[in-house]
Amino acid sequence: MIDTGGTILKENGVFSSCTQRQELCGYACCKFSSSNWIMLLPGEYELAIQQNLNQDHLVFENSSRVVCTAPCKKGDLKPIDCSWYPLFPANADATKFLVADHRKCPIPNHELIDKMLSVHAHAVAWEQQHPGSLAHMAALSRGFVGYMPFPYKIENNAVVDMDMQELRDIALPIELPKNYVCKEWTMSSLGYSATATPFDGR
Ligand code: SF4
Ligand code: SF4
Repeated sequence: MIDTGGTILKENGVFSSCTQRQELCGYACCKFSSSNWIMLLPGEYELAIQQNLNQDHLVFENSSRVVCTAPCKKGDLKPIDCSWYPLFPANADATKFLVADHRKCPIPNHELIDKMLSVHAHAVAWEQQHPGSLAHMAALSRGFVGYMPFPYKIENNAVVDMDMQELRDIALPIELPKNYVCKEWTMSSLGYSATATPFDGR
């Protein structure tokens, strides 16, 4: 993701596995030509107003759903959802996650484990401040397109593999087409599939 805007938590979510791959993906997660949308967390908009963050680059479809129309810059609101990308909590205690289709975001799953732990911590803290918001967000995320089940979860403070049934349970009803090719990518996506990259396991 673009690293110039700031979230209301002052966490931009930028990490090296992302910055190393931006030449390949062409910042695909920040291009919104195909009706992609960003989720605002319950209470996030109100805090952004209090912090005087500029929102001119965002089009609000409703209080929890925005579309980004221009790269965010210093002083602009960067939604927390952007800083969590390519992960998003899939359950009400943020122990299971969705991950972006790897034909769109090329970061291998094993490089996202630290990110998972960080998103978990922020999501749990948000839930403490805004009770019920995680269940609400997980329910809204069922409408996401371009996300797959993340193969790891947090259990008893440890990172463990999801089993096949758990993966099926959080799979979204709509996936990107089998022949999907991200038009933002600057090179061939050969070797990348919805759930895998050529660098898995390295
Ligand atoms: S698509 Fe993935 S690798 Fe590319 S900028 Fe977004 S988060 Fe980073
Ligand atoms: S606000 Fe827009 S430009 Fe900034 S990180 Fe989110 S999608 Fe990208």
